[in-house]
Amino acid sequence: MKKVLALWSNDQINEEESRILRATCADLPIPLDAEAKKSVRDLVEAFLERDDASGLAAPQIGISKKIIIFRNRGFSKDGASDGTWTRKDVEVLINPRITQNRGNQIVLAEGCLSCPDIKVEIARYPEIKVRGFDVHGHKIGKRYLDFVARIVQHELDHLEGKLIVDYDEGSFFVPKKKRSFFETLFHKQSG
Ligand SMILES: [Zn+2]
Repeated sequence: MKKVLALWSNDQINEEESRILRATCADLPIPLDAEAKKSVRDLVEAFLERDDASGLAAPQIGISKKIIIFRNRGFSKDGASDGTWTRKDVEVLINPRITQNRGNQIVLAEGCLSCPDIKVEIARYPEIKVRGFDVHGHKIGKRYLDFVARIVQHELDHLEGKLIVDYDEGSFFVPKKKRSFFETLFHKQSG
C-alpha cells in the first residue's frame, strides 16, 4: 500500500513529511500533460487500494499538486457509510476552487490519515459549489451536499497546506494513552 504522509507517527513529529503537507500545492497544467496524468493516476491508485479513507489529496502521497479524490455517495448525513458504496462512486477534482458556500455551518468531528489517532470538531458548510477540472482535464462546475461537501472542503484544505489540527474552535479527541505526546506537540506548535 502506498504510504500516506503524516505530521506525526508513533509519538514522533515527522519534520520532512510535515513540510510537504504544509506546502501550498501548484495547479496542474490544462490540458493535462504526461506528468500531470501520471500524478492523477498515482493518486487514484493510492486511494483505491485503501478502505479507510473517504477522500485523499495529492500532497498526502507527496505530490504538491492540486488534485483530490473522494467518494461522492454512500454516506448518511453524519458520515457513516450507508452500505451502498461501490468502487465506481469515486470522483477526481483537478485545480478545484469553491465558488459558493451555502447554509448554516454544521459541526462534526473529523479524522485525517495525515493526523493519526485524533479527531477534531470542525464547522463546515452543508452545501458548496466548486469549479475545476475533471479527471480528463475537462472544465466542470459541481454542487456537493452534506457529508460529501464536508469531504471536499477537507480535501481542499490539504491543497493549501491546512490540516484538521489548525481548527481550534472545537473540541479535540485524543486517546488517553497518547495525551502527553499531544500536549508536547501543541505546546510546540503554539510556542
Ligand atoms: Zn485529511
